[in-house]
Amino acid sequence: SAGPVAMPKASSDKVFPATRRLLRTEQQRILVTGGAGFVGSHLVDALMQQGHIVYVLDNLFTGRRENIEHWVGHPNFEFFQQDVVHPFFVEVTRIYHLACPASPPHYQANPIKTIKCSTQGCMNMLGLAKRCNARLLFTSTSEIYGDPQIHPQPESYWGNVHTWGPRACYDEGKRVGETMCFSYRQQHKVQVRVSRIFNTYGPRMDPLDGRVVSNFIMQALRGEPLTIYGTGKQTRSFQYVSDLVRGLIALMEGDYDDPVNIGNPQERTVEEFARSVASMCGSAGGVVMRPRPTDDPMVRRPNVARAREVIGWQPKVSLEEGLVPTIEYFKGVLGREDAKLPA
Ligand code: NAD
Ligand code: UDP
Repeated sequence: SAGPVAMPKASSDKVFPATRRLLRTEQQRILVTGGAGFVGSHLVDALMQQGHIVYVLDNLFTGRRENIEHWVGHPNFEFFQQDVVHPFFVEVTRIYHLACPASPPHYQANPIKTIKCSTQGCMNMLGLAKRCNARLLFTSTSEIYGDPQIHPQPESYWGNVHTWGPRACYDEGKRVGETMCFSYRQQHKVQVRVSRIFNTYGPRMDPLDGRVVSNFIMQALRGEPLTIYGTGKQTRSFQYVSDLVRGLIALMEGDYDDPVNIGNPQERTVEEFARSVASMCGSAGGVVMRPRPTDDPMVRRPNVARAREVIGWQPKVSLEEGLVPTIEYFKGVLGREDAKLPA
């Protein structure tokens, strides 16, 4: 009775982004934990485009399947939905260990989960690196410097971190993650790389993650006032995600194995940042002041001399350049949200 039924499209019909063809001997087998997140998915794109075999391990706690959907079904790609706190085994040559909730509202929502991820999860991945004789890159953070008393922050600074404040679950988790990396290096000769990442932004950020970049852009696009926490005189230095991904790969493939800051030294007060976002989004919503969060660092700016020297890396994208595609991305998010509203 019914007419011809359309056959479901075979997965081989899917059109994938272009990838280089590598010889088997040139191809790395790479595990990216947290690969469905903001930074991880951009890293996965770069590694896939280079022609490598990429496995993603992610529990989708803050990441999204859409971020990696364009690779699902590709012969070089595999996604495993699992928590890093559980043992996991694949045969790999490289491990980029990113899995960890990263924005203050996310990592503070369930601090014990954050600590387990940073301790048990990191231990599992170092154990895997040891077993496979793989090299592991750990994404540490500028947060290990806490509320810094040295400015800008060089890698030699040991930091100023509150051990039991609201940020401690994240900061101390990353600090012990670094400690574990260097203990595995010393005791088991595991090859480790440690990147200390400073505030990074770009397309695929979670619009609801509560970070200043996503909050301000979403507020500005909606014509709402931008929420400045505290005086707005505190500073951050914002790095565009493509610079970070280039830095992570350079660090992984280089020989240097002490910690390296990866960030953009262009420093702004939160107030100045609000002004830039408002003007670029054409917002007339103004600003509103909110209380300063406990232990919110007053200043943050990387010293990137070491990265320049040991991996020949420096950031290329200015804040004004990087905000353009980022704002476009958030416009798309808002467009999709509006489409879901009842007429
Ligand atoms: P994100 O939240 O977008 O990505 C984290 C990913 O890890 C998500 O996909 C999430 O689902 C996954 N994840 C979380 N807990 C997990 C678990 N227990 N098991 C498996 N997967 C888990 O955050 P992001 O900004 O992409 O950050 C990536 C990494 O870079 C994090 O380790 C973060 O600490 C670090 N970092 C980011 C920044 C930044 O500004 N974005 C700055 C410093 C450090
Ligand atoms: N911030 C703000 N308004 C917001 C969100 C954050 O003024 O809506 C401030 C926050 O207090 C901090 C800075 O912006 O001083 C960066 O905050 P974010 O959460 O993005 O990152 P982190 O504090 O981890 O650097």
